[in-house]
Amino acid sequence: MSQENADFIVIGAGIGGASVAYWLSRQARVIVLEAETQPGYHSTGRSAALFMESYGPDQVRALTRAGIDFFRNPPAGFCEHPLLTPRGAFVFAGPGQEAELDAHEASVRATSSAARRLDAREAMEFLPVLRPDHVIGGVLEQDASDIDVDALLQGFLRGTRQHGGRTVYDAAVTGLSRSGGQWTVTTARSVYQAPVVVNAAGAWADDVARMAGAAPVGLVPKRRSAFLFAPPEGIASSHWPLFLDVQESFYIKPDAGMLLGSPCNADPVAPHDVQAEELDIAIAIDNIERMTTLRIRRPAHVWAGLRSFVADGELVGGYDPKVPDFFWAAGQGGYGIQSAPGAGRYYASELLGEGAGALPALPGFDPARISPARFPC
Ligand SMILES: Cc1cc2nc3c(=O)[nH]c(=O)nc-3n(C[C@H](O)[C@H](O)[C@H](O)COP(=O)(O)OP(=O)(O)OC[C@H]3O[C@@H](n4cnc5c(N)ncnc54)[C@H](O)[C@@H]3O)c2cc1C
Repeated sequence: MSQENADFIVIGAGIGGASVAYWLSRQARVIVLEAETQPGYHSTGRSAALFMESYGPDQVRALTRAGIDFFRNPPAGFCEHPLLTPRGAFVFAGPGQEAELDAHEASVRATSSAARRLDAREAMEFLPVLRPDHVIGGVLEQDASDIDVDALLQGFLRGTRQHGGRTVYDAAVTGLSRSGGQWTVTTARSVYQAPVVVNAAGAWADDVARMAGAAPVGLVPKRRSAFLFAPPEGIASSHWPLFLDVQESFYIKPDAGMLLGSPCNADPVAPHDVQAEELDIAIAIDNIERMTTLRIRRPAHVWAGLRSFVADGELVGGYDPKVPDFFWAAGQGGYGIQSAPGAGRYYASELLGEGAGALPALPGFDPARISPARFPC
């Protein structure tokens, strides 16, 4: 069995592992181990690819904001096309939901100055497929954008390679042990050694923690389903924002000439290669057809992915409080793509011991609020 050494071993080549590996590799020897035969096969490759500053709890928002400059001005050669394309996000409310819409507006205005309140008439002009009896108005977050997820993921992995790091596929980690200040990481074909291990295993992060002898953080993978369907004939839809009702019973977003729909479900499941349930899709279609004039005969493509959360919904990032040199980069929930540049850069700075001042100030960010030490053992 072959053996390789590095300064850091990152477990998982989703956006979480790829982003931290990218920044680590500029100063250290990094090996990324991925169970699948390709990167981003699980959650990262199944997302709705939206960047929305107001989305998620406080610390997610702070780390999302921290990555905006990277998204807008990635380093030369990182990608061929812009990582963000303007999309907008529109939340509408129906009769009796004024208070919920007010609360949503306040939450958007807390992070984004580009929020606009639309009355029912303006909402209908903007999205003529909404049913008038279901709309009293809405809030448009104008600077929400589409993310080119593949370009972001491939950019991180290519950059890691260019800095001398490498990603090994078909390399499921099956054992982790530590002695003499070194981790030994076992896969079916090889053994890897490094002083520090980064747990970026997505929905499997608690399983990897157990292998290392660390206490799980109570990660719950939740199934979210999605599907593509044909847009209505005779109505231009490619410029629509992502739109959803304030109670989140569905969302719709234009996607490469089609419309992407989702029931906004969050069904707790064990970590696995998740598929959409027929009922998820039926519920979404029912809600969409009740609140809009859209008709969905048969979805062109259906899928599901896992969004993995801990109890407070924040990320889990930092050194394990009990097991030395075991670093968490997990719990990305429904925001792992948009927060990756900010979170990955921050994690790498912690791992490299760069100290305060290495990064620009991160307004509103409090490392203790994402630390794995916040969970009772
Ligand atoms: C339908 C849907 C819509 C979403 N929409 C958005 C959105 O609009 N914007 C946004 O920012 N986020 C969105 N998300 C969330 C986002 O996709 C996730 O937060 C993000 O992809 C998580 O990245 P990750 O790297 O933690 O996990 P993953 O991409 O799942 O990567 C973890 C990797 O670890 C590997 N692994 C696990 N165990 C081992 C092991 N023992 N050894 C080796 N490798 C292992 C897995 O194979 C996997 O490739 C959405 C998610 C879904 C499902």
